[in-house]
Amino acid sequence: MSAPISRKQLSAAGLLNKARRFFAKIPDPCDGKITLVDYLMSGLALFGLKYPSLLQFEHDSREETTRANLHALYGIERAPSDTRFRERLDAFDPSQLLPLYKALFADLQRGKGLEGFEYLDGHYLLSLDGTGYFSSTKVHCPQCGEKHHRNGTTTYYHQMLGAVLVHPDHSEVFPLAPEPILKQDGARKNDCERNAAKRLLADLRRAHPHLKLIVVEDALASNAPHIRQLQELNLRFILGAKPSDHTHLFAWVAATPETREVEFTDAKGVRHRFRYLNGAPLNESNFDLEVNFLEYWEHTPDGKVTHFSWVTDFTIDDSNLMTLMRGARARWKVENETFNTLENQGYHFEHNFGHGNNNLSTVLMHLMMLAFLIDQIQQRGCRLFQAALTAAQSKTRLWRKLRARFDLCLIPDWDTLYRSIIQPPLLPLPPDTS
Ligand SMILES: [Zn+2]
Repeated sequence: MSAPISRKQLSAAGLLNKARRFFAKIPDPCDGKITLVDYLMSGLALFGLKYPSLLQFEHDSREETTRANLHALYGIERAPSDTRFRERLDAFDPSQLLPLYKALFADLQRGKGLEGFEYLDGHYLLSLDGTGYFSSTKVHCPQCGEKHHRNGTTTYYHQMLGAVLVHPDHSEVFPLAPEPILKQDGARKNDCERNAAKRLLADLRRAHPHLKLIVVEDALASNAPHIRQLQELNLRFILGAKPSDHTHLFAWVAATPETREVEFTDAKGVRHRFRYLNGAPLNESNFDLEVNFLEYWEHTPDGKVTHFSWVTDFTIDDSNLMTLMRGARARWKVENETFNTLENQGYHFEHNFGHGNNNLSTVLMHLMMLAFLIDQIQQRGCRLFQAALTAAQSKTRLWRKLRARFDLCLIPDWDTLYRSIIQPPLLPLPPDTS
């Protein structure tokens, strides 16, 4: 938790209102009783309140208290049943949700929530990585990836490529629109992920034509076609590069007299050792594609040595070694602060809310990511949320407290809900008439 910023549009009420108005503009071939807005807002409530299952959400939303609260806080007129929810969203085209990531991001920018997130030369760090969001040994569709096991069973799965704005000094991360990795993309896993990256980056540039970004990725990304696309889209990069994938590059660096080595020990006793060379050919078959090479060893006082190597388009000199190294290593935040948070801090990511026959699992993945983005923006820019999180001591406890109150009392607005966690009120009981 950081910066003392607090803006109306960075509060739950403002962000959910933005989502609601966005959903209302999507053409809705209404099934008569429940509007598309109510289906989609129910999805945001399901993940926003961290319900463990759709069934539990349905049970609760039949109760008068929860129904009234869903109306007051999420603007839901009528929450759908578990079955209707799955059917309607299975038929919904998930790409219609993508502009909402940008709209929420624009609020974050306007509310100055990104102040302090620029990392190098006014650029933000954007970490890209793939992860799974559905898996089953039984349920599957034509888009499912397949893993065939030795014992003859098959695991079916869906994956996505996440793109998340990160900063080494801040705990918040902000996802931009993720891209599903589809089976049709190619027979091999890596083909799939690379093709998804191609679509994601092109869409990202269309959505954010002027955003100054440094893309940080793992070693799968340091290939010529990908680097050329990054250059074409005016995206800067720091990409992992393994010696085993880049024998030519490592040999080139070792044989070049201009290769420079720098070493120093910091106040904590950590020894930082760097080796770098600007303008090295990526590999033999792409000799004309020049990259700047950075290798790093971290020696901690307990004797542990960690080794990394990257390629970048930033010109490396003695003054930016630490900055480039820390920026590259912030890549892990897509896993640690995003996917792990979704998995272990109440969002029930990878827990199957439903697969459907068409789009359900992808629609649910987006609604979960959007609910996560809304939480992250609040954490960055809403003082009440920050204070409630401090009072609750952990995310998991905060979600539990939110939902407990949701079940128990009538809540007029988000401010009251958060205040009740910061300073729990005395519950006024009805008079004893026994
Ligand atoms: Zn599937």
